[in-house]
Amino acid sequence: MAPNLPPFLQADHDLLVSLDRQHVWHPFTAMKRWTASDPLLIASADGVWLEDTQGNRYIDGVSSLWVNVHGHRHPLIDEALAAQIGRIAHSTLLGLGNVPSVLLAARLAKLAPGHLNKVFYSDNGSTAVEVALKLAYQYWQIQGKTEKKEFVALANAYHGDTLGSVSVGGIPLFHEIFRPLLFPVHRVPTPYWYRCEQAQEPAACRDICLNALSDLLEQRGDRIAAMVIEPLVQGAAGMLVQPEGYLAGVEKLCRKHQILLICDEVATGFGRTGTMFASQQESVTPDLMAIAKGLTGGYLPVAATLTTDEIFQAFTSDDPKLATFFHGHTYTGNPLGCAAALATLEVFEKENTLSRLQTKIQKLSTLLDDKIRPLDHCGEIRQRGFMVGIELVHDRATKKPYDPALLVGQRVCQDIRRHGVILRPLGDVIVLMPPLAISETELEILVEATKKSILAITEP
Ligand code: PLP
Repeated sequence: MAPNLPPFLQADHDLLVSLDRQHVWHPFTAMKRWTASDPLLIASADGVWLEDTQGNRYIDGVSSLWVNVHGHRHPLIDEALAAQIGRIAHSTLLGLGNVPSVLLAARLAKLAPGHLNKVFYSDNGSTAVEVALKLAYQYWQIQGKTEKKEFVALANAYHGDTLGSVSVGGIPLFHEIFRPLLFPVHRVPTPYWYRCEQAQEPAACRDICLNALSDLLEQRGDRIAAMVIEPLVQGAAGMLVQPEGYLAGVEKLCRKHQILLICDEVATGFGRTGTMFASQQESVTPDLMAIAKGLTGGYLPVAATLTTDEIFQAFTSDDPKLATFFHGHTYTGNPLGCAAALATLEVFEKENTLSRLQTKIQKLSTLLDDKIRPLDHCGEIRQRGFMVGIELVHDRATKKPYDPALLVGQRVCQDIRRHGVILRPLGDVIVLMPPLAISETELEILVEATKKSILAITEP
């Protein structure tokens, strides 16, 4: 039984709504529309179910923005946090160490692909990418290859909201307004096969994109520090699943031209694509890997940038100015967060999460084929593990998109609340990204509700 909340943590629904409208500025939200709406406020959760302040229950269909892994209030993670809080909640990593951050770093190093032996902590996905970019840049400066200052990223990339990660981002709606503040980045085409006009099959689309990257690296490779990529699936771009062999092709080109490869596993890490990390599916070993989101099972904001001994070695010269990485956040290596992450990894082992996930991935795939694919306005279903994007279109035959002003994706995700599900779209792409802990029965509820709401909005 959960303990009673102290009075300062309570208020009734109407007061909360009023205070939210008066004081809370929501992220990625048009606030005028929000203030005029009837907001849904979450009060508690259990497993994959969220409960609002009026007692309604919903399946957490996007894992509380792609973070929840083992379900809410998992006993083992709760217990680890309670035990850790009985010791200490926070101390700094600047000039000191702490127990959970040491244990977590060692465990991550063992789990990560290749030889990513060194762990630099931060607080969120954006900062984990920011750190990777700065480490790559400084690495080449220390090596004396001072001309290697440029970066490559994919069209429609999303790597977070700090200015460095926005620089490598390529989603016009989010990023364009900030362009004058950003450093320039080489942008290469992304293998978005469904909308590729030059290729007749995914492999051809892959090769066109790899050739474009190859051409760029032939011309500019000696000036490029690193390439950053979301491996296997470009999440915020609309769950764009890369054709087989694309990621391995990118790695090969980076190696050929001595360019560091940064894999942003913020969204894809921790089982999302069916393996612990997405890059493992193409036997790719990045030089730097950014992780966040699922790292703490969705409990607390901890992130990390993992890198190799080789890159770390460059920072051990005798010149302290060159050899110090002048970057660090106040809550870096937070003991509570690291305890949650250690417990999350423990649950992966104890519950065989990844092997049990495989039949659920298959089940989800079958449900999507049976219930969603036949719908008249379903353009494409993209799935890699437990990352799903359903692209809704005005006309299936011509792939003509809806007028964005119709807000079709948003309306589907509003409607589905009636059926006890929370979703958040990416434009007109309906995203399904449930916690890995979801049961097969709950998957059925999720997909059936998705079907009903797509029909309600697209074929009223
Ligand atoms: N990188 C990727 C691939 C992401 O999907 C996200 C967030 O969705 C980020 C980075 C940024 O993470 P955060 O929101 O924790 O800063």
